[in-house]
Amino acid sequence: MLENPNLRKIPLLSECVYSGIYHSSPNGGFNILMEKKERMKAWREKNKEAISLQQGKWYLLNKEKAKKQSKLWADKNRGRSTFSKQKWKDEHPKARRAHVILNKAVKNGILFRPNNCPQCNRSNHTIHGHHEDYSKPLEVQWMCPQCHKEEEGEINAN
Ligand SMILES: [Zn+2]
Repeated sequence: MLENPNLRKIPLLSECVYSGIYHSSPNGGFNILMEKKERMKAWREKNKEAISLQQGKWYLLNKEKAKKQSKLWADKNRGRSTFSKQKWKDEHPKARRAHVILNKAVKNGILFRPNNCPQCNRSNHTIHGHHEDYSKPLEVQWMCPQCHKEEEGEINAN
């Protein structure tokens, strides 16, 4: 199972360790996560009646409790998932700004994000834009997470 390269893809691609931003992959980096989602969807679809019956029954019996619970959950989890990202943004405003500008440029077709890593030519990962200088957000070196890591490692070692 560990031989499957897809399995190693998940931690690399779920959240960019450098920017805290979730990168979308043009070449299926989220395959496995999607598959899992699809499977869950299929399962829900198949058991739709049983689930809705169960939930409906429970809801009717516990209306007030359900309302209270969902409000509690929302209060408790407000900003939770964004907390670490927010922290990163607060600590790296320049990097954050550069990434936002870069992502916009890619989205608007101003910059082209290559499908293959220009350094090692691997194509099975999302290609990251590596900033040498955050004050020049559109000047990036495209590279896959592996090369990115090595690059950062070299910088840190020097
Ligand atoms: Zn590479």
